[in-house]
Amino acid sequence: MAVTEPDVPLLRVEDHVPGLRYEDLLECVHCGICLSVCPTFDLLDAEADSPRGRLYYMRALAEGRIELAPNIVRHLDSCLGCRACETACPSAVHYGEMLAQVRNHIEANYSRAPRRRLARRLLLNLLTRPHLLALALAPTRLPAIRGLVRRMARALFGDCAPDVPDGARLWPASLPQVTPAQGERRARVGFLAGCVMPVLFPRVNEATVRVLAANGCEVVVPRGQGCCGALAVHQGYLEDARAQARRLIRAFEGLGLDAVVTNSAGCGSGIKEYPHLFPTDDPWRPRAEALAARTQDVSEFLAALGPRPPGQAIPLRVTYHDACHLAHGQGVRAQPRELLRLIPGLELVECPQSDWCCGSAGVYNFLEPDLARQLQQRKVENILTVRPAVVVTGNPGCHAWISAGMTGHQGAPRVRHTMELLAEAYGARNSGE
Ligand code: SF4
Ligand code: SF4
Repeated sequence: MAVTEPDVPLLRVEDHVPGLRYEDLLECVHCGICLSVCPTFDLLDAEADSPRGRLYYMRALAEGRIELAPNIVRHLDSCLGCRACETACPSAVHYGEMLAQVRNHIEANYSRAPRRRLARRLLLNLLTRPHLLALALAPTRLPAIRGLVRRMARALFGDCAPDVPDGARLWPASLPQVTPAQGERRARVGFLAGCVMPVLFPRVNEATVRVLAANGCEVVVPRGQGCCGALAVHQGYLEDARAQARRLIRAFEGLGLDAVVTNSAGCGSGIKEYPHLFPTDDPWRPRAEALAARTQDVSEFLAALGPRPPGQAIPLRVTYHDACHLAHGQGVRAQPRELLRLIPGLELVECPQSDWCCGSAGVYNFLEPDLARQLQQRKVENILTVRPAVVVTGNPGCHAWISAGMTGHQGAPRVRHTMELLAEAYGARNSGE
């Protein structure tokens, strides 16, 4: 008997969530190994708030078996995007990539409450435009209206009014377009200045350039870089991220660079994953691949280059917090520790759960303040058990959030970037210090 084709076209499951590849979803074998490393599963003790549970939802959405109901979106929103599950997964599930696609689907098709929608958009615009961020933070310097600003922030983000770090600038700090190498030139590198760093942590950018120069690198900081787009990816605004990626790719092309270096875990991870933003037949795909292949975290780059030994002793007890997008997103764990161990007199001690998310997670601490505060508190307690004088990390979000969590703790350590300590050990103090 002849078999006839059905009249109705076969359902292509991936059409329900464009961009989400169905074969990627099938890689999850539901073993549950990832559950024990997932911070939200640990806090909420619910399968729906675990990687496996969220992957079930993603698959059900892709197959058209469920719709974007508030409870489904809630469980997907509560994910930190920390990607500890990827590190643990024996099937190499591309969780982060799928989360970005499903979040893009949510933002395009789900109707959020106006206040939530406004908060998400406002955060994205503020944190990806340094001049706007500087302007928005300026009133926090004026005691008379500081209270009003905090009340407005609370109305939008809940009880999670942001703290402005010491050393923040009223206007984004710019770096020299070219900084010459000290001694024999070993490499010519491009540096990603970022959008939060020039306002909140200009001293970290200055320190990074100094450390690179001290290691024989000529440092080029192209103008017009803009934001790398990582925050937009995290929030599910993939069109915004593509526009930002194209601008950044253009800024770093044709400069004869040996590498493009970042000092922010989130940015480095985002740029390394640029190829995911563009389909294989998109003309931007090879350009995205070229930049991704040349991009390295500054600790990764220096460790591979072979750092010159720093001469200045820093006799401090130090612990290291692994930023999620460095440890889980890029697999960079050993290199920052190797660099810190080069510093004479510095004692590096490990704290418990050093690679557990601190709760900052992009803008998670603004959008999910209750969970973020619980993770912050856990992080602070773990750090305090080893009594360090300094906590070192490689991401601005972790830097600010852990610093805020230390407030009120007796003898609390300072938080610093790996490059700040190294710059000091190379005898190069920042202008603001
Ligand atoms: S560890 Fe990987 S394969 Fe196992 S349940 Fe988690 S995501 Fe799925
Ligand atoms: S990204 Fe982090 S919070 Fe989200 S499912 Fe994976 S481990 Fe859990």
